This record gives sequence, C-alpha cells and structure tokens, in this order.
Amino acid sequence: MKDMFCFQCEQTAKGTGCEVKGVCGKTAPVAGLQDKLVGASIGLARAVTNTKATDATDDCIVKALFTTVTNVSFDDESLNAMVACIEKMKADLDPTAKSYDMTRLWEENEDIRSLKTLILLGVKGMASYAHHAAVLGYKDPVVNAFFYKALVAVGSDMGMAELLPLVLETGTVNLACMGLLDKANTETYGTPIPTVVTMTIEKGPFIIITGHDLRDLHLLLEQTKNKGINVYTHGEMLPTHAYPILKKYPQLKGNFGTAWQNQQKEFDNVPAPILFTTNCLMPVKDSYADRVFTTDVVQYPSMVHIGKDKDFTPVIEKALALGGYKEDQERTGINGGKTLMTGFGHGTVLSVADKVIAAVKAGDIKHFFLVGGCDGAKTGRNYYTEFVEKAPEESIILTLACGKYRFNDLDLGKIAGLPRLMDMGQCNDAYSAIQVAVALAGAFECDVNDLPLSMVLSWYEQKAVVILLTLLALGIKNILLGPSLPAFISPNVLKVLVDNYNIGPITTPEADLAKLLA
Ligand code: SF4
Repeated sequence: MKDMFCFQCEQTAKGTGCEVKGVCGKTAPVAGLQDKLVGASIGLARAVTNTKATDATDDCIVKALFTTVTNVSFDDESLNAMVACIEKMKADLDPTAKSYDMTRLWEENEDIRSLKTLILLGVKGMASYAHHAAVLGYKDPVVNAFFYKALVAVGSDMGMAELLPLVLETGTVNLACMGLLDKANTETYGTPIPTVVTMTIEKGPFIIITGHDLRDLHLLLEQTKNKGINVYTHGEMLPTHAYPILKKYPQLKGNFGTAWQNQQKEFDNVPAPILFTTNCLMPVKDSYADRVFTTDVVQYPSMVHIGKDKDFTPVIEKALALGGYKEDQERTGINGGKTLMTGFGHGTVLSVADKVIAAVKAGDIKHFFLVGGCDGAKTGRNYYTEFVEKAPEESIILTLACGKYRFNDLDLGKIAGLPRLMDMGQCNDAYSAIQVAVALAGAFECDVNDLPLSMVLSWYEQKAVVILLTLLALGIKNILLGPSLPAFISPNVLKVLVDNYNIGPITTPEADLAKLLA
C-alpha cells in the first residue's frame, strides 16, 4: 500500500507520482490531510448544491482549495482545523451530504482520473486568484458557483463525454476570475506603469516579502512607514513595484533574489525576516527558521503565523533586531544584470497599440513570443533562457510569472522604441497577455492563432494548469509546454489535446524557434 499519492505538480517523483514523501517536502500525513480537506470540500459542495451557498461557504471552499496548492501548507494542525470546520459547515447545511474519499479518484480509470484531475487542479489554481480578489473586496458569483459545480463533478460518476466540456469550462471561468483579480488589483492600486527595479540591497534593517498577495504588501508598507526599515520583494512579488499606489512608499526599495526554488540558498545567512504571503514555501532550513513568518493560507509547523488582524509587529521587530547589512549589497540576476524591469500589463501595452501595430506593419516587429510560466528546479529549465537569447532581434518577448527570472535581467534592447522584453506581471497577469493578443487579432482582423504570436510556457503548479486550460478554452493552438508534460495527463487525454490544439512538449530552443518561425 502507498503511503500517499500526489501527482499535482511538475516535480512529482519519477514523473509519475509522489508515493512515500513529496519531492516538495510534503509528508505523507500532510498529503493525507490535504486529501481529506479536498474530500470534505466535495462534501460541502454537495451540501451547497442541495441547499444554498453563502458567503461563508464560498470563502471556505476557496480557502480550502488554495491551501492544497503545492508549497502552501505543510501544517497538520491548521489542516485538521480546516477539515473540522468544513465538516461542521456541511453537517449544518445538509447532514446527508457525504465527504468524498480521494483514494477513489487516485484509483479511477486513468482517463477519467486525468480529466477529473484537470478540473480539480484547475479549480485549485483558480481559488488562489479568487482569494486574492476577495481580500480586496471583489467577488464574482459565477466564479464562486463554479467551485461547487467542479467539485461535485470530481466526486461524481461522470464519463469522459461529460467531463471534457467541464475541463474547458474550468478554463473559461478562470478567464473571468483572472479578469476579476485584474480589476481588483488595478482599481485598488492603479494601472501598472513600466518600472525599473534594483537588485541592490541597501544597508540597514529590511524585510523580504514573497508570494503574490498585493494587500499583504500594502499593509506591510503602511506598518513600516517611518520605521527605518526597507522592504524588498521576492519571486512573484516583483511586479508590485509597478503599481502606482504601492510605488509611492519610499521604503519599497527593490527586489531580492530570484525564483522560489532558490530560496533555501538565497535566504541562508540573510540578516532579515522573510514574510510568505502565498506559495511557494519550501521546507524551512534551520539556518533561517527563526526569520520565517507566514500569513493567510501559508503555514509551516513552528513558524510564526500572522493572523487575520495582519499585525506585522513580530516581522518588524525581527527586522530591527537583525539590523540588515552593514553596507549596501550589490546583487545581480542569474545572467549578471543589475536591474529588472516590470509593469507591462495590458493597460500599458495597449496604450501604445498604435506604435506596436505600425512596427508590425513596417516589418520592424516580425514575431511575438509569450515565454512565461513557473520556474522550478529542473536543469532543463535553462531552455527558456536560451530560447529568449536566441529569439530573433525582430521579435518581442512578453513574459509573466516567476519563470522570467531565467532571463529578466538580460538587456535585449528595443524595437521601435519599445523594449524587446516586457514583463506583464504575475501568473494571473496571463489575463493581460490574453487582452493584448485579442486586441492585436482585432487590429489585424484575424484569429489569435493567425497572429505572429507563439506561446512557449513553463509550468510547475496548479495555477499554471488553470491558465493552460484558459488558453485552450479560448481555442489557442500550437502551445509548447515544458519542461515536461504533466503526469496527470493520460495518453488518451493527451491525444485529445494534440488533435484539437496541437499542444506539444518543448524540444531544443533552436528546433522550436525554427518550427515556430517557419
Ligand atoms: Fe509531489 Fe508535487 Fe504533490 Fe509535492 S505537490 S507531493 S512534489 S506531486
């Protein structure tokens, strides 16, 4: 008998599934509790379907799904509490509604398991976006209703014919959810503007904030005002430098380090606390365990957790006690660049649409590549650096999410006054890329698939899965995906994706560039 089963992320053991312990550091008991949490959520979705959803059930489902995303929670105590809370909520609503035993899913026929897993992982990724929007006061009843529908389907006896459309519906609803989060972020913090971000860490006390939550950063900036503490973003927090309301805080100085998988090395010996607002949290090493703080859904045993009151005093006190570096530290990205540029959301790119269209018509821009997605530990991921370096000079590289740390410190120059490398933001800002693609297709009176635009994506966890479903739901074809194809896609489901969307694995930068530019 297996100790656990999980195959939800790209680094899954042997490319098939983690069965003893997660490669991510998740233990078998924690994996079991996360399965229990999803099973209880399916029970709650059944209860809601038989009765009525409330704000409390919506929040609970979203939070439960987000908690089971890779590298979010390693904490059995909080997972147990969430399971108990959902079980009670379910029993109060409908005592006849049963929780679902997730081993049934893991032991299903491989095609049914594959489709149900796509739906489940899709709603896990979407839940993270719904949660970030909800904390800013933005909710969409259609998005919330879909969580129940999807979970009921995962626990049902549906066949392939019923599940396939639901897979695509997951992608369609996620487009609305990413749109909701885009609205929440831009209405609250302004439209991102192109911004150069330094990687130099100034002397004196500082705090590193990582994850994705803009509200947590805003609250931290408010609480560190005039305290002589600087704040540095890490990982997916980099794009926050471009939001006008956040930019105005003088203590928001720059960006620390690179993508999530380097944290155990980069956080070692840093004289500053690190605040994790969402994934990706890796198992905490003893050498910096006294400096790690978590908040919201992120939890790790024995780490100080900042609760709902968002009182960051323990983080601030730790920063002051540690004192930071004695001298400024000049740091670089992985290619030696000293600054990064971000802030090319759809608002900015579409404001210069005339310039872009004119450059395409004049032949100055011959191709657009969207090279984005998650970063990860596999050595094969240097493909993305090489791909960007080898892309022709007459091409624009749009990027997003943390995969960009492979190349975002490169100076690729300009075309027609536009930077060749444009960082559109976090993973959810795939919404921006879609808006730009749709606008270009409109301007050239063609289908998105007929544009000189290629998508070369990297995936790691469940947010990338749901973004991929959104692109497929929009009918986007010829996507290249790497560094490896998901373990949860069965050969028959892969055939459906290849036949209908011509999706394929990355090969070598040279061969893929030749194919995409042919
Ligand atoms: Fe394994 Fe990934 Fe699941 Fe962690 S999240 S247990 S690494 S498949």
